Amino acid sequence: MKPLLEIDQIHVRYGDMTALRGVSITVAESEVVCVIGPNGAGKSTTLAAVAGGVKPFRGEVRLNGTAITGRAPERIAALGVSLVPEGRHIFGSLTVDENLAIGGYMRNDKAGVAADRARLLDLLPRLAERLHYPAGRLSGGEQQMLAIARAVMTRPRLLLVDEPSLGLAPKIVDQIYEILLDLRRRDGLTLLINEQSSNRILNHADRIHVLRAGVIQLEGRAEDLRDGDAIRHAYFGFG
Ligand code: ATP
Repeated sequence: MKPLLEIDQIHVRYGDMTALRGVSITVAESEVVCVIGPNGAGKSTTLAAVAGGVKPFRGEVRLNGTAITGRAPERIAALGVSLVPEGRHIFGSLTVDENLAIGGYMRNDKAGVAADRARLLDLLPRLAERLHYPAGRLSGGEQQMLAIARAVMTRPRLLLVDEPSLGLAPKIVDQIYEILLDLRRRDGLTLLINEQSSNRILNHADRIHVLRAGVIQLEGRAEDLRDGDAIRHAYFGFG
């Protein structure tokens, strides 16, 4: 099957600092792929290179076989790529419903937007109960769910999620992943997710890449990496 996303040997620099050195990641349609790595490994930069936030100076990003390297973020978004950034970036003074509406704002199909809103609220009853609350009053887990729901309101084919587990209790992390996997099941959504720790991810992802110092150190199927030794070696750089 043709991959939906191909990150092919990309290199990214910030001034004199090289953040990515030949990173390659392929994601098939409806696959859940996770990039794990320590602080500063280059995970956010990798997602930014796909979403158009940074431009690789070498290598190529292809979506459905078409090179999108260096295109403007709004053009890449229009092709069905949506990014849930680290730290969520929801609008705290707007209500939950208003945040969702922002996700659907660029779409022309009003009926589709209404149907997606209803479906997401069905999937996320805690947001449905708090529809008219300011989003800033939600818990961390609820805010993460809202950030994902808002991104899903754009009807993406590919959802990029930067560290959804950050600062959340393990039980909430599992809930977030259940929602992401449910969206994959229902919509065939393809997911590329960054995480700092592999702890809970091995249960949810199809494939894992370990990124350290701008280089992919290890990649494999989650079920083959479950004992954790290979991941630890790649992550910490010993062995
Ligand atoms: P974190 O878990 O902290 O988000 P990360 O794996 O996502 O880490 P990146 O944020 O991609 O890593 O950063 C990779 C490297 O590039 C780091 O050394 C970081 O300091 C540097 N970097 C990131 N953004 C910039 C920028 N805008 N200007 C200069 N250097 C940057």
